[in-house]
Amino acid sequence: MVFKINTKKSTEAFEIAKKLMPGGVNSPVRAFKSVGIDPIFISHGIGSKIYDIDGNSYIDYVLSWGPLIHGHADNEVSSALLEAINSGTSFGLPTLQENKLATLITNRIPSIEKIRMVNSGTEATMSAIRLARGFTGKNMIVKFEGNYHGHSDQLLVKAGSGIATFGLPDSPGVPLEITKNTLSIQYNNIEALNKIFAKFGSEIAAVIVEPFAGNMAGIPADPDFLQAIRFLTKKYGALFILDEVMTGFRIDYHSAQGLYNIQPDLTCLGKIIGGGMPVGAYGGRKEIMNLIAPEGTIYQAGTLSGNPIAMVAGYTTINKLNHDSYKYIEELSDRLIQGLSIVAHKNKISLKTTKAGTMIGFSFIDNPLQNFDDARKIDAELFRRFYIEMLKQGILLPPSQYESIFISTAHSINDIDRTINAADVAFKRIVSFN
Ligand SMILES: *Cc1c(COP(=O)(O)O)cnc(C)c1O
Repeated sequence: MVFKINTKKSTEAFEIAKKLMPGGVNSPVRAFKSVGIDPIFISHGIGSKIYDIDGNSYIDYVLSWGPLIHGHADNEVSSALLEAINSGTSFGLPTLQENKLATLITNRIPSIEKIRMVNSGTEATMSAIRLARGFTGKNMIVKFEGNYHGHSDQLLVKAGSGIATFGLPDSPGVPLEITKNTLSIQYNNIEALNKIFAKFGSEIAAVIVEPFAGNMAGIPADPDFLQAIRFLTKKYGALFILDEVMTGFRIDYHSAQGLYNIQPDLTCLGKIIGGGMPVGAYGGRKEIMNLIAPEGTIYQAGTLSGNPIAMVAGYTTINKLNHDSYKYIEELSDRLIQGLSIVAHKNKISLKTTKAGTMIGFSFIDNPLQNFDDARKIDAELFRRFYIEMLKQGILLPPSQYESIFISTAHSINDIDRTINAADVAFKRIVSFN
């Protein structure tokens, strides 16, 4: 057992959880399998810090996988939530809270003229694809290897490398009949995109893409690549779906589409727009959105969709974000990747960093990352050892070499500097152990 800080209570809780839930968790990455240790169980969080049930504290770079852009238990968000809860938690009927959040989102992301709230990012992408198919009357969708769009059957595809391979399911239980309409090609590869449209252009309903591939170590989309998607979808009458579930309100004040100056037909949101509550949304051009029931005939519904508590959490979170918030997070992000690069270099560790707006990535690899084939070359064992050394020093990173780290407005320069120092110590230990 390499794991030296006392996590006895977490380990005991995990033993019980494993008997109750598959792998002891409700979402796979939480099981810490990629880093080969038992997960920590969380008791609470305040600001940039998170605390486990054994009383250890950590600087948190998971931030619930992105939503908590103001850190844990932000005062304004918590007070707004308490007030909302005291008025009832769900009605299944319209509320003003829905108008408020929808107004805020459509103001800040002009390509979203109309929006539909759902309960997760998975639901958002799944519904956007149904809408794109209904709108275009076509069936095929194009996605990119290593881009994650949630776990709906049709999107659980990475397929083989190269061009025009029909999608193979990533998971048992997903029928080939469903994924055969999903074409998966290399990210940031304009040539592959041209080829797939030349071959299947008349059958493609939509292209769905992550503007910053946060689930493959943080690879920014090449601006020309996004422009090529815009150009080809328009030319062939397909829809451009920008999956901003992670980047929405995080990467920039106007989200990734503002940063890259692109105009998608549909946008998927989640994470930050729920301020830590379960939410997703999809929206876009009016004439497309008007096809959704009850205005149109494309069915999509949800008992808890537009839940007032979630709307309040999302509204308060986004409303609190101003240009200075992003400037601040970007400064911290720059400081962190620069600091990590310096201590990695000093310790002769191969580390590459990526950046777009406030979002950053780092990976143990020799060459810069462009796509999933590159990401597969990440030194997973080095990451695992680094992860554990960081955890022992009170730094909580996402427990997988493929996941992006998140920084909040609650993080301080001191948090960042402590993290860089911890990385220096971690690298030294790893190197001396070799
Ligand atoms: C997290 C994420 C999803 C899935 O959202 P869930 O709420 O986990 O279903 C989809 N797309 C992207 C880009 C994401 O980061």
